[in-house]
Amino acid sequence: MNGKIVHIKSFGCQMNKLDTALVSSALKEAGFSLTASVKEADVVLINTCSVREHAEQRVLSHLGHLKHIKENKPDLIVGVIGCMAQRLGDKLLEHEAVNIVCGPTQIPQIAKLITEALERNEKRLAVTEKILQKTSENQNQTLERFESAYGIEDKKIPSQAYVRAMRGCNNFCTYCIVPYVRGPEVCRAPEAIIEQIKRLASQGVKQVTLLGQTVNSYKYKKGRRIWCLADLLDAASAIEGIEWLKFVTSYPSEEFFDEILQVMADSPKVCNYLHIPAQSGSDKILRAMNRNYTAAWYLELLAKARATVPGIAIAGDFIVGFPGETEEDFEATVELLKKARYRNSFIFKYSPRPGTTADKRLEDTVPAEVKQKRIAELLAVQEKISDELSRDFLDKEVKVLVEGLSKKSHLNIGGSGDNPQLVGRTATDYIVVFNGPTSLAGQFAKVKITKTSPLTLFGELI
Ligand code: SF4
Repeated sequence: MNGKIVHIKSFGCQMNKLDTALVSSALKEAGFSLTASVKEADVVLINTCSVREHAEQRVLSHLGHLKHIKENKPDLIVGVIGCMAQRLGDKLLEHEAVNIVCGPTQIPQIAKLITEALERNEKRLAVTEKILQKTSENQNQTLERFESAYGIEDKKIPSQAYVRAMRGCNNFCTYCIVPYVRGPEVCRAPEAIIEQIKRLASQGVKQVTLLGQTVNSYKYKKGRRIWCLADLLDAASAIEGIEWLKFVTSYPSEEFFDEILQVMADSPKVCNYLHIPAQSGSDKILRAMNRNYTAAWYLELLAKARATVPGIAIAGDFIVGFPGETEEDFEATVELLKKARYRNSFIFKYSPRPGTTADKRLEDTVPAEVKQKRIAELLAVQEKISDELSRDFLDKEVKVLVEGLSKKSHLNIGGSGDNPQLVGRTATDYIVVFNGPTSLAGQFAKVKITKTSPLTLFGELI
C-alpha cells in the first residue's frame, strides 16, 4: 500500500468497463487503494467515451465539478483516460482540473503517471501521436502483458468477465470516431485469450464475453492455421467451469459468419445471442455511412442466423437523422426494424464527431426536432416488437445467471417474501427480475416468468 486512494468513474461501452477493471487491478497491484467516494480520493480518474457528443459533455461537466473540489483540495490529482483523452490530447490537459491525460493504448503506464503527478505535481500527457498507424510490436506486447496480468478481475458482476479478443477497428464507418481513438484492428493471440479464460474459470468465472468492435472479424494467423472467432468459441467451450460464452459486437459481414452460427448451434455453451447493428434501412444512407451492405442483404443474414440457430435472439443498433436522411429513408429504417424483429435495439440520434468523414464532408441536415420525432417513432415500433417477444415467455421457465440485487425494485409490483429483488440474464440476454436470496449472485437459477414488459421479464424463483 502506498497510502493513496483512487476513485474511478467510467463512461461508455463494455470496452471501457474492461479497461476500468484492468486499471483498477493495476493500481491495486501498485499499492493504491480504491474508493467509491470522490471525497475520500487523492486521485480521481475518469474513463471517457467519445462516441457521442453527449458522452463528452457529461465528462466536461464532471471536470467542472472536480475543478470546484480542487479549489478546497489543491493536491487532488485528476486523470482523464480513454477515448476522449486520445481525441483531445493536450487540449484536455489545458483544462484547469486536469493533471493527467492518458489514451487507451497508454493505460499500462497509468500507475507510473499517477505516481509522477503525485510526486511532482506536474501535468502528464500520454497519447498516441499517429493513431491511424498500426501499433508497434513493442506496444502490442506491453498491452498484452497488461491485459494478461490484470485481466482476471471484474468484480462488478460476480462470475462474469469480459475478455478482449481484439482492439481497434479498420472499418471507418463515416460517422464513427472509434478508428481515430482506438487505432487499427489488432487481434490478440488465441493462446493468450484461451489462457486468460482458463485462469478466469479457475477463479470461479462462469460466463465470459469476448469483446471487439467487430468481434466476428477476429482473425489470427498461427503457423498455417487461421483462427477465427468460431475457433476461439470452440476452444473456450472446452474449458471446465465456463458455462456461457457471449461475444459483442458483430459487424454484418459474411466472413466467418457460417462458422460462428454453426458453433452457436452446436455448442450448448455458446449463447444464442447476436448483437449485429444495421444502423439504417436505407441503402442510400448505408452507402453514405460506408457500411458495406444493403438492407436486403442484411435481412438475409438475419434469416440465415435464424435458420441455423433456432430461438436466436438478435439485437440491433440504429442512427436516426444521419446527414441526408429523408422521410423515405427513415421509413425504410422503420420497415427494416419491423422485419428484423429484434429483441431490442439501441437507437441514437446522429451527432457529428469531429474529424470523422461524415463531419468533414456531410452537412448535418436533419433538424433536431425531426431527429427527436424519428427516434421516438422508431423506439415505439421497437417497444411493440420487444413487448410481443417478451410475452412469449409468460408461464415459461428460464435459466438465468444471477447478477445481484436489482436496482429497480419498485418495478416488480408482484414481488413478495422476505428475499430481496435480484436481477439475472438469460443466455439470450433477457433481463429477468425475481425475489431470491443474495447468495444466488453469481449462480445459475431457474425462474418461472409471471409478468413481462418490453425489456424485462419478471418471475418467481423455482
Ligand atoms: S465498425 Fe464502424 S461503427 Fe463499429 S467501431 Fe468500426 S468504424 Fe465504428
